[in-house]
Amino acid sequence: MSMHEHTYPSLIDLLFRSPRKDPTRIASESQRQLRSLLAHAYENVPLYRDLWRRAGVTPDDISSIADLHKLPMVDKEAIVAAGDDALDKTVDRSTLDEMSTSGTSGRAITMRRQIREMRVVRRSYLRSLFLNGARPWHHSVTMASTWLSKKKGLFIGKVAKTKHIFPKDSIDQQIRTLHEFKARNLMGQTGGLYLLAREILRRGETFPLKLLAPTGATLMPQMRQAMREAFQTEPRDLYGAVELGAISWQCKRGNYHVDVDRMIVEVVDTDGNPVPRGQTGQVVCTTLHGYSLPLIRYRLRDVASLSTETCECGVRFPLMNGVQGRINDFLPTPSGELISPHYLYHIFDQVGGSPVKEWRIIQHAPDRLTYEYVPEDNFKASALEGGMNVIRERFGAGVSVQAVKVDSVPMTPNGKRTCIVSELDPDSIVGMRPWDVDAQAGMSDALAEKYDVALK
Ligand SMILES: [Zn+2]
Repeated sequence: MSMHEHTYPSLIDLLFRSPRKDPTRIASESQRQLRSLLAHAYENVPLYRDLWRRAGVTPDDISSIADLHKLPMVDKEAIVAAGDDALDKTVDRSTLDEMSTSGTSGRAITMRRQIREMRVVRRSYLRSLFLNGARPWHHSVTMASTWLSKKKGLFIGKVAKTKHIFPKDSIDQQIRTLHEFKARNLMGQTGGLYLLAREILRRGETFPLKLLAPTGATLMPQMRQAMREAFQTEPRDLYGAVELGAISWQCKRGNYHVDVDRMIVEVVDTDGNPVPRGQTGQVVCTTLHGYSLPLIRYRLRDVASLSTETCECGVRFPLMNGVQGRINDFLPTPSGELISPHYLYHIFDQVGGSPVKEWRIIQHAPDRLTYEYVPEDNFKASALEGGMNVIRERFGAGVSVQAVKVDSVPMTPNGKRTCIVSELDPDSIVGMRPWDVDAQAGMSDALAEKYDVALK
């Protein structure tokens, strides 16, 4: 197949036509697009050709989306390790641009893709903002890594009234920018926006916005609550990845619509077999318009479920439930339980009832943890021991937790804030996945009710 037969959705398709299209029509178009992508990858991308041959499958074995599970999964590490072999061998390398993303361990890695395909990815973010009421003439502020801000045309584009703030800037500076620029929309890194919201509330202030769109990390109920109060609007969470674009995003009704015109989203178990709709598993994506760097059954380490509900907002894309966390955010205890990230956020935003500005929990081994914290001015050191006892009680009596006071919690090399750091090899925790055992371990009924969390 030659490059000329590749098709890409136009901006009009993305913004206006696809979201209102009949779902069965989208499904049949996706099916056709998938077959063409698989044939292309088998012929031109050594990584997939080798992988599928070893697994004894060819594109001919995949006659519909229902057969997709026959293909082996890939992940970010496999794509990066394959280097040039992950790329379409016929593509002119000078038409490729770099994108920077975080590896599982948090270190920054780069992937390359054709510029025209990156445009489709960027426009997927634009779409979610547009359908939530953002317009180019609104004053919009994006909290982004320095890498992202250098990319032209991102989010609302060059003509739009946009400004960037950076997580590495002081929060004081960030708040000043919001005021000076008279921001109406605010989007970007979930962790950074959460800190911003908390500081605004700590000052006894609010900063009302028209649209608040956090992305890049799981939006925990506590984060949503603080953002809602500080910015006086309901956050519209966007679940996506740099290399994929928007996977699903909250509409005005608060439901997460899946970008089904651009990708196939599966929720699968450890072996890659789809779990029934409504059940929890890991997210696997196949992008339908990525020919230069095909991502086929691309495994994300995120825990979620597809939804059986429908939405009346006008967007006809099917729904999934909000991501519960990354697989690594569920920390195993020595006795074989999993502690949900919801619980970790609940106990660490304050410790022993005393407030902290920032924190990070690092699990070195199932029985060894470090808690780093930046105390608030009114922090009571005596509360610390009580907080650590809660941890010991939850993880088991033999667990060692070291509390370390720090000046600031380091960001990932990609400029993101991450509160839960697992140093365990994700593949070493066999039979202990959120879909293997009760993912609500560590989440009491009372807590689940308080935050209105339905994990199942
Ligand atoms: Zn909707």
